[in-house]
Amino acid sequence: MTAEIIDGKAFADALRAQVAGAVPAFVDATGRKPGLAVVLVGDDPASSVYVRFKGKATLEAGMESFEHRLPEVSGQAELVALVEQLNADDRVDGILVQLPLPGHMDDKAVIATIDPAKDVDGFHVANAGRLAVGEKSLVPCTPFGALALLKHRLGDLSGLEAVVLGRSNIVGKPMAQLLLQQNCTVTIAHSRTRNLPDVVRRGDIVIAAVGQPQLVRGDWLKPGATVIDVGINRIQIGDGKTRLVGDVDFDSAKEVAGAITPVPGGVGPMTIAVLLRNTLVAAHARHDLRAPEGL
Ligand code: NDP
Repeated sequence: MTAEIIDGKAFADALRAQVAGAVPAFVDATGRKPGLAVVLVGDDPASSVYVRFKGKATLEAGMESFEHRLPEVSGQAELVALVEQLNADDRVDGILVQLPLPGHMDDKAVIATIDPAKDVDGFHVANAGRLAVGEKSLVPCTPFGALALLKHRLGDLSGLEAVVLGRSNIVGKPMAQLLLQQNCTVTIAHSRTRNLPDVVRRGDIVIAAVGQPQLVRGDWLKPGATVIDVGINRIQIGDGKTRLVGDVDFDSAKEVAGAITPVPGGVGPMTIAVLLRNTLVAAHARHDLRAPEGL
């Protein structure tokens, strides 16, 4: 069997077009564009690229983009003061502080200062708590995007066995909550899980978010499983060259899975598309407007 390749890029493009299509009605209703502020501390090259991508995508969706760059040596108080200024700025509907922050800063303490209504990354404990108790919340972008791909491929997920590898607050835990809301039977695996291949083999759905290149192999999978590979790892392939791979060994997995996301071109593009979606949803909520149908 050769798996269907889930085209995350195409799905993300469609979502971005849907968001862009809904912006004019928001502008008509409120007299202003939705706005996303992205804050980067330091000049980590990968983070810098992400921030540039996010800014460009925000403008392409017809929204306002505010980019703030603070030097690496900035103090946490300076960053918190900026977040508080953005909390108070009516032009800003979404605030994203690019992680990881430099070592002398406390990610959790900084995130706690973001207004939960503007927390488009969904990392604030208020949003994490609402997700856990099944209340409306801003949901972390990557798991939300992964769920959208799963629903597109499988429709109703009710009763399916889902195995989530990884228990981070950013991906694994919110992913598990979302799957539980969809009535999946959810197993969360992590670095202390015993007999990991046997656990993974239970999954009709397998979500890999461990940050370990090509950990999940084809012979770990139930035949026909739907595999969502969240991992993004850069590996050496000789001659000083590198290649991006996921947490799943794509070549062996595609021979057993029913469907699989590639890396790159799978979950990655969905993350930015959902960030735009969350910004638009947050903007509507701040004006007591109903979010556009289907978003
Ligand atoms: P973290 O490092 O925060 O978490 C990794 C999780 O995987 C932990 O729960 C850890 O277990 C578990 N783990 C690590 N090694 C193993 C192992 N050998 N067997 C089983 N479990 C293991 O990573 P993130 O959740 O932030 O990210 C995961 C991956 O997703 C990374 O590759 C990252 O680059 C990618 N990512 C991609 C995004 C996208 O846009 N596509 C966005 C965010 C992340 P324990 O808790 O026991 O330590």
